[in-house]
Amino acid sequence: MFDETELLTLIKKLVTIDKKWIPSEPGYSLYLRPTMIGTKKCQFWFPFSQFSSFLMPFVSDLGVAASTHAMIYVIACPGGPYFGNGNTALPLYAVSESVRAWPGGTGSFKLGSNYASGFDPQRRAAALGYKQCLWLLEENGEHKVTEAGAMNFFVVLKKEGKEGEKDGLEVVTPPLDGTILPGVTRDSILRLCDAHGPETPLPDYDPETRLEPHERSMTMSQLQKWAAEGRLVECFCVGTAVIVASVDRIGYGEKEITLPQGTPIANALLSRLQSIQEGKFEWQAWSVKC
Ligand SMILES: *Cc1c(COP(=O)(O)O)cnc(C)c1O
Repeated sequence: MFDETELLTLIKKLVTIDKKWIPSEPGYSLYLRPTMIGTKKCQFWFPFSQFSSFLMPFVSDLGVAASTHAMIYVIACPGGPYFGNGNTALPLYAVSESVRAWPGGTGSFKLGSNYASGFDPQRRAAALGYKQCLWLLEENGEHKVTEAGAMNFFVVLKKEGKEGEKDGLEVVTPPLDGTILPGVTRDSILRLCDAHGPETPLPDYDPETRLEPHERSMTMSQLQKWAAEGRLVECFCVGTAVIVASVDRIGYGEKEITLPQGTPIANALLSRLQSIQEGKFEWQAWSVKC
């Protein structure tokens, strides 16, 4: 395993050298993605490789086996708003006949191979007028909700409070059961919701309304029930590239769940994450200065 503090030092160096590529417009950023590839060398087919140290990292083995060598590198690329500027509405199409990740599989790792199975369902969802797939997993005859596209998924639920009490809200995302990518944005959102209150309120959001973060599974029938009861107030997707994107509707077979138009919590979280990224809001918990 490569020493992660060394990697951070190298990333800082890279960003310093390439700082002219950091976009200045809000919503734009320099996307950094550490990547690892297998570089097991083939001694016999490439006898000259031992003389050419330049070629060495690129000469790899052809075969189906775990690699004995690996190379870690960092992609740095200026990126713009993923689905258009600001928090644009994202229609999702719930998919159960194709599976992104399954129990015992590799869904909790960011592997290139996890994406291939999503391309065809994504194309079908787009043909039906949706932007991304909402990945479901069948369990005990129910459709469990996992992730959306290559993003973690959240719902905001009104709590069933006693009459006269100021109702809090639950911000719920599926638990890390092996089928979910443990995204850094997901973790940040859970922590920002937990910290919301009179001391560190989210921007333009009522400091008195408690936001309770929960990691808990949810099914499509629950989503339908909560929507019918008026308790499902927001759904949003999160990830490094998109930051936070609100969902306006979810197609599910012939049916569709429509979400309320206003998305104050997703907007507040997007705005807070952007201000942390732009260095306008000090948040010691996870910011790293270059
Ligand atoms: C990258 C990715 C995410 C988001 O992870 P971040 O660390 O927040 O960028 C979520 N789900 C999947 C499947 C992903 O590939």
